[in-house]
Amino acid sequence: MSDFKPPDPFVSPRFGQIATFMRLPHRKDVGAFEVALLGIPFDGGTSYRTGARFGPREIRAQSAMIRPYSHPQRVSPFERLKIADYGDIDVVPISIERTMEVVEKEIGRLLDAQVIPVSVGGDHSISLPILRAIARRHGPVGLVHFDSHTDCWDQYFGSKYFHGTMFRRAVEEGVIDPRRTIQLGIRGPLYEATDFDFQAEHGMQVITIDDVKDQGVAWTGRQFERLAGGKVYVTFDIDSVDPAYAPATGTPEVGGLTSHEALRLVRSLRGLDIVGFDLVEVSPQFDGAGQITALLAANLLFEFLCLIALAKKPPS
Ligand code: MN
Ligand code: MN
Repeated sequence: MSDFKPPDPFVSPRFGQIATFMRLPHRKDVGAFEVALLGIPFDGGTSYRTGARFGPREIRAQSAMIRPYSHPQRVSPFERLKIADYGDIDVVPISIERTMEVVEKEIGRLLDAQVIPVSVGGDHSISLPILRAIARRHGPVGLVHFDSHTDCWDQYFGSKYFHGTMFRRAVEEGVIDPRRTIQLGIRGPLYEATDFDFQAEHGMQVITIDDVKDQGVAWTGRQFERLAGGKVYVTFDIDSVDPAYAPATGTPEVGGLTSHEALRLVRSLRGLDIVGFDLVEVSPQFDGAGQITALLAANLLFEFLCLIALAKKPPS
């Protein structure tokens, strides 16, 4: 279908037009494409700096110069897959509960049509309704969770839902398999010494930033191998990356991944049966004029697309 040709690097990036992700066609006709990039511009789950609702808009803008071929992954995702910008989900800025209902429904609609969702937040609370929809289709999935925080707290301000509780809820609800969950990049001051008890009790693997830096990126990438043979969902909180590289986020933590380590680690997910991705917590107003956080996010999205393309079976 001619619509889904890779973006032509010799055609103007159309700087003056409202951007789509990677200059892809904006399509709502579910069934016409295999992968949907979509925005979920909700930040009502943030506990500190707000603004992630503007993540999708700025990441679209910064993705305009993404070229079509990945040399490290040896693939041109736009040639192998029909990929569309599905637009933004109609979130309810003043209600986390109603937003979660809408997100679960829209993601379910894509999954029912065999479309792989690549969601762009928004704050991290959006991962829970996505995982609910994913589990309804695929059963409880494995999880690779890039973050500086475990997001496994029980509650905040007396509420069970915000951007620091999703993965405890996901375990309680049975939508992820905690024994096939890997959290990595974890660091920063915690509330108390017991903050890792939940993960230990449920068999979730926690790879701290010190583990990554001491053992190296190759060792860390090999940890993912044990998730092979079952479905996996990948969630990438941009605050896993050091604020020197990704300052524009709601709850920055110093001493994190470099942008290069982040790209390499995402590439090491190759070979897994990945049923969806999200990239969350980019709050573009905390970037300088260079928009380096949104630019990194756009490049990570491209790496996700390459992984999906490599996993696609060639036509027989
Ligand atoms: Mn975080
Ligand atoms: Mn998070």
